[in-house]
Amino acid sequence: MYILTADYHTHTRYSHGKGTILGNVEAARKKGLKKIAITDHGFKHIGIGTAVSDLGKIREEITRLNQRFSDIEILMGIEANLIGMDGEIDIPQKHLNAFDIILMGFHKAVIPASFQDAWVLFARNALGKLGLVDRNTIRKANTQALICAINRYPIRILTHPGAKIDIDSRELAREAAKLDVALEINSSHGFMTVEYVKMALEEGASFVINSDAHTPDRVGDFKRGMEIANEAGVPPHRIINTKEAMEIQ
Ligand SMILES: [Zn+2]
Ligand SMILES: [Zn+2]
Repeated sequence: MYILTADYHTHTRYSHGKGTILGNVEAARKKGLKKIAITDHGFKHIGIGTAVSDLGKIREEITRLNQRFSDIEILMGIEANLIGMDGEIDIPQKHLNAFDIILMGFHKAVIPASFQDAWVLFARNALGKLGLVDRNTIRKANTQALICAINRYPIRILTHPGAKIDIDSRELAREAAKLDVALEINSSHGFMTVEYVKMALEEGASFVINSDAHTPDRVGDFKRGMEIANEAGVPPHRIINTKEAMEIQ
C-alpha cells in the first residue's frame, strides 16, 4: 500500500500522553521511521496543555536524542489549538520559533481568546449540534476561522479536519492546497473520512497520515489512516510522509 517513513503527530507526558519522548523515539526507530515529531497539546488546552516552562527542557531532550541517534530525526512540534474566530491559536507569536513544526487542530477543551470567541466558536457550535442555531452559519464561521489561522501562522499540518467541528471541507482543502498545508488523515480518530479525502484530493491538497499516538506502542501505527487513503485513491506522492514524497522533498 504505502511506505510511511515519518510520524508527525505523537504525544507524551508533556500533555496527556502516557510515555516519554525517548519512549516515542525508541518505538519509531523500532518501526524503521526516519523522522518523528513530538507534538503535545497547545498551551491553552485545559488541564493538559504543554507548560511554557517545559519548552526548554523538551528542546534539550530532543537535541540530546538527535545527537545520540543517527538513524532518526526528531522534531520539536506542538498541536496548537484554534482559540479565536479571527484564526488566533494558543501559541503566542513570541513562542512560534520554539518549534520545528506546528500542527493545528480544533479541540473543545480549550480556553478561548475572548468571551465572544467562547460564544461563537464553542457554545454556538454545541447549540448547532442540537439544531438550535443554523448549521450553515456555523459551518461558514468555523471554516473561515481555520482559513484565517493557516494564513496567519506557519502551520504545516491541520490535524483531523472535520473531527469535533462542522466545516466546509472543500473550501478548507482548497485554501490548504494554496498554502501548502497538509491535511491529516488521523489513524486514531478516523478523520478525515474517505469522502472528505476524495474531495480534498480534487482540490489539489496534500495529505499526511499520522498515528496521533498517546502511548509509545501506538507510534507509527498508520493502519486506519492508510486504509482511508487507499479507499479514497490517494497517490503516494500526495502524502508528505510517504517514502516517495520524502525523496522528492
Ligand atoms: Zn487532536
Ligand atoms: Zn493529538
